[in-house]
Amino acid sequence: MKAYTFIEEGKFALLKKAKPELSEPTDAIVRITLGSICTSDLHIKHGSVPRAVKGITVGHEMVGVVEQVGAEVTKVKPGDRVTVNVETFCGECYFCKHGYVNNCTSPHGGWALGCRIDGGQAEYVRVPLADQGLDRIPESVTDEQALFVGDVLATGYWAARISEITEEDTVLIIGAGPTGVCSLLCTMLRNPKRIIVCEKSAERRAFVSKHYPDVLLTTPEECEAFVMEHSDHGGADRVLEVAGAKDTFPLA
Ligand SMILES: [Zn+2]
Ligand SMILES: [Zn+2]
Repeated sequence: MKAYTFIEEGKFALLKKAKPELSEPTDAIVRITLGSICTSDLHIKHGSVPRAVKGITVGHEMVGVVEQVGAEVTKVKPGDRVTVNVETFCGECYFCKHGYVNNCTSPHGGWALGCRIDGGQAEYVRVPLADQGLDRIPESVTDEQALFVGDVLATGYWAARISEITEEDTVLIIGAGPTGVCSLLCTMLRNPKRIIVCEKSAERRAFVSKHYPDVLLTTPEECEAFVMEHSDHGGADRVLEVAGAKDTFPLA
């Protein structure tokens, strides 16, 4: 099969590799139908992910069809359409049981797919701990609609959830890329009093203003004064930093 591979810093290439096989009873093999490119893939390419292993297939957000499952996998079966979670987790350790699956203490835990083991920018992927790593896609949802479930949408949902947003809050979201927009949608589910989006790209601001006309928009340069003017308690009550740039953390 073809697999997009991390060769060395600055270099990815499309290589021919053997189709992955089950290696543990908790594994599943998934035939990929769609995969996305994440900024984290670029971080691997630029050498800023020290744990990334040279030679691995990149890609950690994908959907597909289950081909094969190990003897201990009970949640999915061959033929199921599934989303693949970016995080691999056991579901049983202290952190998993408290919902902090990204801190899973299993040797497979954390960001494994497309970083420490072969990921999904390929025709097939082996997913460890498949009962936790795969979710079935309902009939009414297309592969394309489900593509962001494993990483981008999950990130936005989690960000909105841990922000403990109430209906009295002014929420500032810094960054309106794909993850920023998913964070915005999940913030909207909480019905805060106002939402301000700070984004430097005019194109992205236009997208937000077209699709979410109730959202207030500002730019990094004007952000502080704008938020002061449009908040009730001397600043935003909740801030979600979804840009990941050097200067957006101090801004938040
Ligand atoms: Zn990602
Ligand atoms: Zn765990």
